[in-house]
Amino acid sequence: MSSLDFSGLSVVVTGAASGIGLAVARAFIEHGACVEMVDKDAAALKEASGQLARITSHVVDLSQPDQVASFAHCLQERGIRIHALINNAGIEYPTPLDDDSLGAAQRWAALLHNNVTSMYLLTRALFPLFRQDASIINQSSIWGKTGVADFSAYVASKHAVIGLTRSLAWELGKRRIRVNAVCPGWVRTDTAMRSLKNISDYMGRSEVEVLNEILARQAIPELLEPADIAGTFLFLASPLARAITGQTIVVSNGEVMS
Ligand code: NAD
Repeated sequence: MSSLDFSGLSVVVTGAASGIGLAVARAFIEHGACVEMVDKDAAALKEASGQLARITSHVVDLSQPDQVASFAHCLQERGIRIHALINNAGIEYPTPLDDDSLGAAQRWAALLHNNVTSMYLLTRALFPLFRQDASIINQSSIWGKTGVADFSAYVASKHAVIGLTRSLAWELGKRRIRVNAVCPGWVRTDTAMRSLKNISDYMGRSEVEVLNEILARQAIPELLEPADIAGTFLFLASPLARAITGQTIVVSNGEVMS
């Protein structure tokens, strides 16, 4: 049996309705897994999951503890034992310090809650369902390793994901559950392309110009595709990575951060 054969194993993927999460879900399905696809966007999830085999889709807003508890209960009722949890769901928007509008502090806190606390809530709720050799893989970002002007909440959330990952690796290591983080560079998803446009507009520059600057910081000057990220998740969830825990793996075509 190949080390990347996940036949008969259950994998939970959050943020599975689009972008990187959908590519990761597809990759696990192609390698035999049964995938529990989770997203808060019901319409996108329905469209994404329509053509896929061996999946169950769940509309869950992971920032809502009661919805997380119901989801965990549903998996428990079905007798699911989790081989891998892919904590991929995340949101992104700018939170500049000079925004003193009403609600700016709430937007900052909401982003942290959505990107970090939700990850903790879900991992905690699913804890009783993990197999002995389970793998938890948390989506951080290359921005989890650097500072970026005007994006302090998003950047702080992705740094926090790395801290959560390292701590849980120690907490769960004696049970042989591994916990790692992935840090993608710029990946061609609708959300990232919208963000590129917003940043370019804000800087008063063209998208092509800003994109070329990003690519010039990469050893391989190509924009990443969602499928380029998926392989790292397969590897980390497989026995090939049985001695890897508490680590962050950068998948960025060699992007150098300042
Ligand atoms: P995306 O917007 O295409 O996908 C994110 C998905 O997460 C969406 O379908 C959204 O509905 C879901 N989601 C968000 N909050 C949720 C919640 N509370 N409950 C349930 N579902 C929720 O984005 P993407 O570009 O594919 O990014 C996926 C992940 O990768 C994010 O965590 C993002 O921060 C990270 N990332 C992306 C890039 C990039 O360039 N695309 C780079 C580094 C890191």
